[in-house]
Amino acid sequence: MPDKRLKEFANGHKEFRSVKFKENKNRFHELSKDGQNPKALFIGCSDSRVMPAMITNSGAGDLFIVRNIGNFVAPYQPNANYHATASAIEYAISVLELTDIIVCGHSDCGAIASLYKDIPKTDDNIHTIKWLELGEAPKKVAMMSPHKNNKKDLLKYTEKVSIIFQLENLMTYPAVKRRVKEGKVFLHGWYYDIKDGTIESYDDEAYEFKLLGDKE
Ligand SMILES: [Zn+2]
Repeated sequence: MPDKRLKEFANGHKEFRSVKFKENKNRFHELSKDGQNPKALFIGCSDSRVMPAMITNSGAGDLFIVRNIGNFVAPYQPNANYHATASAIEYAISVLELTDIIVCGHSDCGAIASLYKDIPKTDDNIHTIKWLELGEAPKKVAMMSPHKNNKKDLLKYTEKVSIIFQLENLMTYPAVKRRVKEGKVFLHGWYYDIKDGTIESYDDEAYEFKLLGDKE
């Protein structure tokens, strides 16, 4: 029986039904009525250690989330291919009319580390290799920095620079660009540190990442 596998998750679901769902029954009932009304689009890495709801202390209905390898945003390409992240961005902006988009990178990111490794070019990796091209520009910038001499610093720096590049790519979407210029949409670049549990937010006036929630 397939359900004999993933037993911990089945047990976890049971626990959810008997505790959390019961405690928040009214909230879930409300949420089921008139569709969703989230507060922000969260573009994060698929990494299992990054838990958007947990690190923002948010709940059901709060975040509209799209996750992919490396939290990359492919530039706007209006063609006949399938674009999962682009479609989520469009839906968030044009249908849900969200006012905030977060691109959240993180420490120890496997996608960023892969930029510095040779991935075998086989049919089994074909989409990953293509997708990782979105990290090439940040890698080039990082390789020109003094961090290139220290592997750990280089990776961290690439992770952070990549966030800024993905924010730039977001601006290639006409609807995003238009609404940012009108002051109706705000872009946020976050860096989550798995070991420390901290989030730093990119300040595009100071050109630096600053601890989130420190001064507000
Ligand atoms: Zn990652």
